Amino acid sequence: MFETLSDRLTTVFSSLRTKGRLSEADINATAREIRVALLEADVALPVVKDFIARIKERARGSEVSQALNPAQQVVKIVNEELIEILGGETRELRLAKNPPTVIMLAGLQGAGKTTLAGKLARWLKQEGQTPMLVAADLQRPNAVQQLQVVGERAGVPVFAPEPGSGVGDPVDVARRSIEQARRAQHSIVVIDTAGRLGIDAEMMQQAIDIRDAVQPDDVLFVVDAMVGQDAVNTAQAFMDGVGFDGVVLTKLDGDARGGAALSVRHITGRPIMFASTGEKLEDFSVFHPDRMAGRILDMGDVLTLIEQAERTFDEAQAEKMSAKFASGEDFTLEDFLEQMMMIRKLGPIGNLLGMMPGMGQVRDQISQIDDRDLDRIAAIIRSMTPQERSQPKIINGSRRARIAKGSGVSVGEVSSLVTRFFDAQKMMRQMAGGIPGMPGMPGGG
Ligand code: GDP
Repeated sequence: MFETLSDRLTTVFSSLRTKGRLSEADINATAREIRVALLEADVALPVVKDFIARIKERARGSEVSQALNPAQQVVKIVNEELIEILGGETRELRLAKNPPTVIMLAGLQGAGKTTLAGKLARWLKQEGQTPMLVAADLQRPNAVQQLQVVGERAGVPVFAPEPGSGVGDPVDVARRSIEQARRAQHSIVVIDTAGRLGIDAEMMQQAIDIRDAVQPDDVLFVVDAMVGQDAVNTAQAFMDGVGFDGVVLTKLDGDARGGAALSVRHITGRPIMFASTGEKLEDFSVFHPDRMAGRILDMGDVLTLIEQAERTFDEAQAEKMSAKFASGEDFTLEDFLEQMMMIRKLGPIGNLLGMMPGMGQVRDQISQIDDRDLDRIAAIIRSMTPQERSQPKIINGSRRARIAKGSGVSVGEVSSLVTRFFDAQKMMRQMAGGIPGMPGMPGGG
C-alpha cells in the first residue's frame, strides 16, 4: 500500500535536496506536486486542501529549524502533518470498568467485519483478555457459520443463536450475549453486525438498535481501504447514522493508493485504531499514525537523522554564526573548527554531511575528512595563536613549522589544512551574504 504516494513524494523531496533555500516559487511548486501526489492516492479533496494549506503555511513560516536544510525541513513538516492527519497519537481501546467491555463492529457487507472479529479476538487473547465473539449478523447467509470458523481458528468462543431455532432478532442476540459473557466471565465481547452492499436505512436502524441495547464501550467502523473515495462517503453515512468511536481499515495489503487512510479520520474526526492487511488472522496490527507516516514517506533513515540533528544542533552556536555572517565578519579557522565539531557531534560524518545549514557548500571539503582526521585538524587549530586563527593569512612558513611541532603533525599537513580552509572561506564568501536556510539572514529562511 501507499507505494504510489510514497514514490511521488520521494521524487518531490529529491528535487528539493539540491536547493540551498526555498523561495516562494519553490514552496508553491512543491505544494503543487504534493497535492497531485495526494489526489492520485485518492485522498479526498477537502483533506488535500487543508493539508496543502498547512504545509505551505509552515514552510513559509518562521518556525524553520536551523538544524535542517530546506529539503529536510519540508520532509519534517510533511511527516508531522501526515501523522496529524492520520490521527496523531495511537488510540487504545476503551476498556470498561465493569467487564465485559463491549466492542461493536459496523460497516458495509464485504468490508471485512467478520474476518476482523477473528483477528481482534486473537489479538485480544494475546493481550491477556478473554474475548467472546457474537454473531449478530443474521442477514447474510452463512455469516454465523463464518464467524464460528474464525472464532475456532482464533480459539475464542462464539455466541450465536442456535441453528434452526428461528431466532432472527440480532438485537436480542446481542443483548443476551452480554449476559452470557458476564456469566462466563469474558472480559471483552466483540459483536459482529450485519452490513449491506450499500447503505440503507433498515441496516442503519438495526445497528442503532443493537447499539442502544448493548451500550458499547467502542463502536468500530470497519472500512475497506480499497474502495477509495467511497470510503469517505460510507464513513460519513455511518457517522451520521449509528456513529462510531474508531475506524478499522481493512485490505490495506491490496491498496497501492491508500487515500482512505488519509481521509477518513480527517473527515469524521475519529481515529484509525487498527489495520487489517490480509486474509489470515495474524494480518492485523494496531494502527500507529507515526509509523504509517514513516512508511508513506519511506524515509525512516532520513527522519531519524532529522531528529538526531535537531537534538544535537546547538541553536546558540548557530545564532552566533549567523550573526557573524550577517555583520560581514570573516569566516575564521575558529569557525571552521567549530563547524566541524558540530558536525561531529551528530555522529559518523559520512551519514551526516549536508545536514548543517550551509554545510552543503563545504561538503566536498569535509567529505575527505574522517573522524581521525578531525582530531588532527582540531589539534592543529588548537596549536595556533588566537591571532593566527582569526587571521590565517599571517600563517607563514615559520609559523607552520611551529604549529606542526606543537600539534605533532607534519608541516605538510598544516599547509594542507590552511589551503583547505582558504577554499572553504572562499566558498563561504561566495554564498552571497547569507547562509542558505538560516532564518533572519539576507537570503536565508
Ligand atoms: P464482512 O461482510 O464485513 O463480514 O466481510 P468478510 O469478513 O466476510 O470479508 C470479505 C472478504 O474480504 C473475505 O473474502 C475476506 O477474506 C476478505 N478480507 C477481509 N479482510 C481482508 C484483508 O485485510 N485483506 C484482504 N486481502 N482480504 C480481506
